[in-house]
Amino acid sequence: MIKLRKVGKTYRTEDLETRALADINLDVGKGEFLSIMGPSGSGKSTLLSIMGLLDAPSEGIIKFADIDISEGKDRLLTDLRRKHIGFVFQAFNLIPHLSIERNVELGLTYRGIARAERRDRSMSALKAVGLDARARHYPAQLSGGQQQRAAIARALVGDPAIVLADEPTGNLDSGNGEQVLDMLENIAATGKTVIMVTHDDRQASRAYRMVSMKDGRILH
Ligand code: ADP
Ligand code: ADP
Repeated sequence: MIKLRKVGKTYRTEDLETRALADINLDVGKGEFLSIMGPSGSGKSTLLSIMGLLDAPSEGIIKFADIDISEGKDRLLTDLRRKHIGFVFQAFNLIPHLSIERNVELGLTYRGIARAERRDRSMSALKAVGLDARARHYPAQLSGGQQQRAAIARALVGDPAIVLADEPTGNLDSGNGEQVLDMLENIAATGKTVIMVTHDDRQASRAYRMVSMKDGRILH
């Protein structure tokens, strides 16, 4: 599904160069549940942004579903991202002045789907995470665990091939964290690729495969 070869990333500001990633070789297949683990500053988020087509590497080759996108133009990357990738964040990133149902519908923006169908699909996605009764509530009226489940519904509503989760349990207590991990596992079991970044090795071990990073490199 995603293949990285000799991928590196250097952040350049006026007088500073930070080597965030070096010589990353990684293959992630369909239906895999992979965790990327490592201390703060080890390059996990940078790697996730590159795999999520949010940021381009400074060097190396990326293949996405066998398409070489290393030299891909922004337009192509944005199209691929919107079509194939769902994102889940530590801070949920729900929009406070929109209802839960509207927040989930946002996952269908840019797809040219009529309002009625967007609503139907959002409601099924909310049902799948057990939140259909909360569709008309606003994010602040939900617990942290419920907000993250709504964010998962938003990530899934467009039926992406890949779900990327950046510290998805970072703001949750252990019970809600477990529930989110169960959901990610179930998502992978439906054939989607799930990649999760975490600094917590116990949570990382819930994935079927773990990759550890240090100083911008994958440890082998
Ligand atoms: P992690 O997610 O493991 O904490 P990051 O990928 O966020 O690691 O960061 C890796 C390195 O790249 C760190 O040294 C960090 O300071 C640096 N870095 C991350 N983002 C930027 C940026 N936008 N500009 C400059 N340096 C950055
Ligand atoms: P854009 O409209 O900026 O091209 P999209 O709306 O297609 O991007 O974004 C796709 C997903 O990526 C969304 O879930 C969005 O929240 C997330 N996203 C966009 N930019 C960033 C970023 N810089 N860091 C993390 N996530 C981002």
